[in-house]
Amino acid sequence: MKVLVIGAGIAGLSAARHLREASIAATVLEARHRIGGRVWTDRDFADIPVEFGAELIHGRSPEVNTWRWVEKLGLSAWHWNKIDDSMIRTEDGQWLTMGQARAASPELDLTRSWELGDAPEPENEEDLGTYLRRIGFSEQQMRYVQRSFANAEGESMLYLNAKAHLQLPLDASGGPRGIDSDGADDYSDFRILEGYDSYYKKLAEGLDIRLGSVVKAIDWSSGVVVTTAAGAVHRADAAVVTLPLGVLNAGRVEFIPPLPPTKQEALAGLKMGPVMKMVYLFDEHILDPSIGAIYAKGNPPMWWSPSLGREGGQVVWTAFFSGDYAREMLPLGEEAALRKGLDTLRREIGQPDLEYAKARWINWPEDEFALGGYSACLPGHYDAREKLAQPTPPLYWAGEASAPHHLTAMVHGAYFTGQRAAGEIINSERAS
Ligand SMILES: Cc1cc2nc3c(=O)[nH]c(=O)nc-3n(C[C@H](O)[C@H](O)[C@H](O)COP(=O)(O)OP(=O)(O)OC[C@H]3O[C@@H](n4cnc5c(N)ncnc54)[C@H](O)[C@@H]3O)c2cc1C
Repeated sequence: MKVLVIGAGIAGLSAARHLREASIAATVLEARHRIGGRVWTDRDFADIPVEFGAELIHGRSPEVNTWRWVEKLGLSAWHWNKIDDSMIRTEDGQWLTMGQARAASPELDLTRSWELGDAPEPENEEDLGTYLRRIGFSEQQMRYVQRSFANAEGESMLYLNAKAHLQLPLDASGGPRGIDSDGADDYSDFRILEGYDSYYKKLAEGLDIRLGSVVKAIDWSSGVVVTTAAGAVHRADAAVVTLPLGVLNAGRVEFIPPLPPTKQEALAGLKMGPVMKMVYLFDEHILDPSIGAIYAKGNPPMWWSPSLGREGGQVVWTAFFSGDYAREMLPLGEEAALRKGLDTLRREIGQPDLEYAKARWINWPEDEFALGGYSACLPGHYDAREKLAQPTPPLYWAGEASAPHHLTAMVHGAYFTGQRAAGEIINSERAS
């Protein structure tokens, strides 16, 4: 049996690896001239690895499969505690550590802990904003949610299915979180100090990966015939499609015959969120070096320093923004957006003359092989991810958007979907 894997992001690499372990030949077709997809460690911008895409390992529960590789490869994961290493500009204008702000304001604390007690379950039709107002969130709390939780979810609240997107925090409120001596719990964030590429390059070892192969058409009427922009034709018995949701929804790849109605319903129920980063290099520390994150009132609302937790090296700050924040920045273009970001930073830290040594934006929404950051589940479409994941032999489906709600938009979720699709192919091969 021969399988084509479309895309060499984490989902594609995971699928190809798991197929290879089962002695099934897989060829990975990747449009870019690099692997990793939305995980992209840059080694030119600064003297430390800078993550232009995924940056953190979200959580440390057994489902977070990245840890197996971190351990296997002996990598160091630094825990971002987000309590005393983070500053927040509160809605009433104070500049406090996150710990102080949460202690001073139960309203803010709730938007961080998500301990919603006996709040009613969200309805499938409800967007996040409508639901939170229904359960009594104040306008101030809504602004905190927009600045932090919704921004991290990759879209504005209007586009977030409350039931789907609150699954993680609602589950989190259900039981003890097993806090360790470092203050880390199952929902903590960690950075791989050696860079995420140490992980994805290892995943790719020994695989047959064809870079620069822009897939244009997938004919799945009898086996699979894939045609690339350069006119190359690849034939196989099956294919794992890991194309990002943005690429699928923009119709950049033609399916022959067209995808069945359930698949089209699934795609219509998911929206690629505009998620962006801007990275800034400074000649010296701009704040007390123990501070590594800023929750700003302006745009971008979320900043962190990849240099925190490292010994020496240059000072880098990353701005992360999505949804309406990104929609406000995109028309400005790179230079004006970088200046706007700098103005926000200057205001928050009280340094009106601050200048950067260099900076750049990473524009995922306009990246032709991503067309966005990660997927949002739209109100009314709770089952869209499950429908997207359903195999339609000879096509098998993987990629971030097809992960269960609590694993979506994450590296370990993408890995899971690749493993799942490989498992489906392996099982069908055994059954035949
Ligand atoms: C800014 C940002 C920050 C993030 N932060 C985190 C984080 O901190 N932690 C975390 O866990 N996750 C994070 N994520 C999410 C994480 O990066 C993704 O969930 C994951 O990398 C998706 O992997 P994937 O394989 O599904 O998709 P992708 O990585 O997008 O892989 C799909 C591949 O398909 C290729 N492709 C596209 N079109 C074609 C074509 N026509 N022909 C052939 N190949 C094609 C693409 O080039 C790409 O390599 C972040 C994402 C972004 C954008």
